[in-house]
Amino acid sequence: MTTIAFIGLGNMGNPMAANLVRGGHRVVGFDLMADNLKTAEANGISVASDAASAVSDADVVVTMLPAGKHVISVFGDIVPRAKPGTLFIDSSTIDVDSARKASAIAAEKRMHFVDAPVSGGTGGATAGTLTFMCGGTQDAFAKAQPFLEKMGKRIVHCGEAGAGQAAKICNNMILGISMIGVAEAFVLGEKLGLSHQALFDVASTSSGQCWSINTYCPVPGPVPTSPANNGYKPGFAAALMLKDLKLAQEAALSAGAQTPLGAEAAQIYGLFNALGEGGQDFSGIINFLRGSETK
Ligand code: NAD
Repeated sequence: MTTIAFIGLGNMGNPMAANLVRGGHRVVGFDLMADNLKTAEANGISVASDAASAVSDADVVVTMLPAGKHVISVFGDIVPRAKPGTLFIDSSTIDVDSARKASAIAAEKRMHFVDAPVSGGTGGATAGTLTFMCGGTQDAFAKAQPFLEKMGKRIVHCGEAGAGQAAKICNNMILGISMIGVAEAFVLGEKLGLSHQALFDVASTSSGQCWSINTYCPVPGPVPTSPANNGYKPGFAAALMLKDLKLAQEAALSAGAQTPLGAEAAQIYGLFNALGEGGQDFSGIINFLRGSETK
């Protein structure tokens, strides 16, 4: 049995930590929100009084925090308190530069580090079917793999520290752009008198096929499990899509990459969020394109 500290027990962190408990590990958790600590206790997680005391006895530390500034600040508190050789796994979605900085903070104290952001949402976190995109040395990745396997079903080593975050934001930039593309096609189809089902039957089996139409279709009907059938309840909130598109734009700027469609997608989701729609699923962008937002 390994002792694992889990910092950040929110919508994703709590079910992920619960899967580590189910996997036979002792999990000591911490979060700033009292309600999340209550849920954690119900999930079999021991609650610590602060982040530093959660890690003092741990062999592995997992962080699942909102953004890069939280990760860097928490690492400043916990890395000096951890045992030498502790493995740090950061599964938050953060900017590549902060991931590399977190890796350097860990390396300075001779700790191991893997950035391991996830795809699969709260459903995947609960079911233990997340995809992990990992960055770090081969050795750190090999150490992290057995723990990640308790929380996910696909674990990909993408390269050195920061490579997991790079893969995550590139993937989500494709997703944001493709969802807008699919939504635009349905709006145009409506204007041309095409039924949703007819467009789906053609595009989902032709060259227009992609995850945004085949699995997550933004209109109700063709894919019964998509959030469009459930009032656009997330799923994956538009506010989180905007966060990831902004991270992609920051990375593109810093790396000197041309991403005009990524920039446009960030702008469109920015307008949607500014209308107060950030809590909707990101496929709700179709209502914005029709000019029929829910609020
Ligand atoms: P969340 O806001 O529900 O959870 C984050 C938790 O971190 C909160 O409970 C907060 O109290 C806690 N926290 C913040 N600062 C802290 C500190 N200093 N010490 C201890 N706890 C602290 O967010 P979430 O949906 O669980 O997402 C977490 C990360 O996973 C984000 O980076 C997000 O982008 C990413 N992500 C989310 C999803 C999703 O569908 N929700 C999917 C993939 C990736």
